[in-house]
Parts: sequence; structure tokens; C-alpha cells
Amino acid sequence: MVKAAVLHHYGEPLAIEELDLAAPRFGEVKVKMKAAGLCHSDWHVVQGQLPLPLPLVLGHEGAGIVEEVGEGVTSVQAGDHVVLNWVPSCGRCPYCRLGRPDLCEAAARLTATGTLPDGTTRFSLGGKPVYQFLTAGAFSERTIVPEQAAIPIRRDVPFELAALVSCSVMTGVGAVIHAARVRPGSTVAVIGAGGVGFNIIQGAALAGAKQIIAIDIVEEKLTMTKTFGATHTVNAGDEDAVSAVLDLTDGLGVDYAFEAIGRPETMADAYNMTRKAGMTVIVGIAAPHETVEINAFSLPSQAKTLTGVWLGQGNPPVDYPKLLDLYAAGKLKLEPLISAVYALEQINDGFAALKSGQNIRGLIRFEE
Ligand SMILES: [Zn+2]
Ligand SMILES: [Zn+2]
Repeated sequence: MVKAAVLHHYGEPLAIEELDLAAPRFGEVKVKMKAAGLCHSDWHVVQGQLPLPLPLVLGHEGAGIVEEVGEGVTSVQAGDHVVLNWVPSCGRCPYCRLGRPDLCEAAARLTATGTLPDGTTRFSLGGKPVYQFLTAGAFSERTIVPEQAAIPIRRDVPFELAALVSCSVMTGVGAVIHAARVRPGSTVAVIGAGGVGFNIIQGAALAGAKQIIAIDIVEEKLTMTKTFGATHTVNAGDEDAVSAVLDLTDGLGVDYAFEAIGRPETMADAYNMTRKAGMTVIVGIAAPHETVEINAFSLPSQAKTLTGVWLGQGNPPVDYPKLLDLYAAGKLKLEPLISAVYALEQINDGFAALKSGQNIRGLIRFEE
């Protein structure tokens, strides 16, 4: 039996349940969870914006220790410290073959089914299957994931910090380094100072941007962005963000604008504050039915690049260890990203804080 936070009905609080957990099958790994972050993607599911099979164990940004491996597993063994990769790519689909494991078609199918690659799940309650979000199901004392989802990491980084690399750090830093490829001396704007936004800011600083404008509506978080490399802040509750960015860039707009909230209005803002021939990068996740309004004439006349990024366009087996090396070298900040730590039983308090925008990242710490 394992204790896990389970979503039974959309819009309702998660329930703490004792679930049965079957043994790992071929190519699967059992992980004893140590820490898991509360991400907006989990919250989207709670609200019913990404319809998935229920009941469901949420959580995908996590780290833990391998406890047992199934037959055929070669890349990890019991005792290894691992970070969960929520896009366990197949290596065989057209996107994997193109070198874009972030867009793996097989992994995307698993998101929809809430299962492991064999179409079943190892969690059950009263003999009925309980599904697992993004093959992870990280809000559980123990979980079983595909081998590709358990990325071995160095042992000297605390689990709570390593967990962040799984989603928010990979997504934010990756958006800058892999998707935008921000060049030294560039100007950058970042809309949304949350777990991902802070990592876009420190990614831009790492890339040598000369001007980094942080935009949010919570003053305390804006003040904190300066310690991550922001050179200017704009409180979008007090002034129009697009005008403010144009004022700060001699009326041109920024070379790169990132949207890390997931709202159509702020996505349009990001586009409108990008200079001609600059790049707009959408990182925030909107609901599937939403559309963004963009001036049609500006598309040819301003020649901007509008793109998006999933998993920071990363390759987790390579990039998670690299990001942790950057942390160990003092080039990435992880500690200040954690605003609050919760026990699994307090998970609904964590989601309430996430909803109110007060946390950068809330984290579940699992008991020994
Ligand atoms: Zn996430
Ligand atoms: Zn694939």
C-alpha cells in the first residue's frame, strides 16, 4: 500500500488514499519519492482543463530513489537517485528520429491515456485502476514509471532541489537556451514570475542578455526577480506591460519575449512587445480550446518569429544532469525557487497557494 493524492472528480480537492501498487514489469522502475513540485499543469488537470481518465494520481515534477527495477532495465539500479522525466520518449517515432524527443508521439499518447506504455497502470484502489499523470504519478510515496522516465542524477544535490529540474528549470532555462537560443547582449522580456518565469530569467542571465525585463502583478516576486538577473521590473497591475517594455527599449520592443502564464491575452502582449524580426516564445500552457489574437498585417510587415516550447525543448537524459551541474557550479539558483514545503496531506493548501499566485514553487516533501 502507498499513500497518494488522488483526483476523483474535476474541480474537487485531491483525496489522500491508500492505493495498491503492483510490482514493476518489464522495462519499469519503482521509485520511492522524496520530493515533488506543484506545477500549473497539475492544477489545469484539477480544474478539468486537460480532460484525462479519472481517478488519477497527479504530480510530474519529482525526484526520488530507485527501489526496484523490472526485467530488462539497464540504465538505473536500486539505490540510484533519479529525477522523473514526464516525456519518456520512445526513440522510434518520427519526432524522436528527428532529434526532438520533447515532441515524442508515443509519450504524448501516454499523457492522454494516463497509463504506462503497455496501456495499464500499477496503481489501483479496491481492485479498480487508478491512472498516473504523465506516466509519473509523483504525488505518491512510491510510483512505477518507464525506465526512460527515471533519469539518474548526481547524489550530492538534495532531492527537493533536484525535483525542480524535472519541469520548471528544464522548461524555463531550456526555453532560453534551446528554443530561443538567446545571444549575448540581447534584450529579453518575461511575462509571469512563477516557477518557469524565474528560470527563464536566470536562463537569460546565463546566456548573457544585457537587459531582462520581468513582468508580473505581485510586487514581492518582482523584487526577487532581480536576484535572478532581472534588470528591470514592470508591475502589469499598475501599468500597461507592452507600453512599459516599449518605453524601456527606445520604442523598439525586445529581441526575445517569453510568455510563462498560459493566457491568450498575455501571449498577444508578448508578441506585441517583441521588436521587428525578434522572437516571441510561448511557454505557458493555455486550455486546448483557447486562441490568440494577433494583428494579421504585422505578420509579414514585422517579420517576427512566433514559436512555442514544450519541456524546454530538452532531452532529459542529457539535460537534467547538465542543469544540476550548472547548479553545483553556482551558475543556477534553486533554493530561492522553493516558497513553501508541504506534507502530502497538505497538498490542497499547496494548490490554493499556487492558485493565488503567492508561491514561486510549492513542494511536497515525503516522510521517511
Ligand atoms: Zn510541470
Ligand atoms: Zn518518440
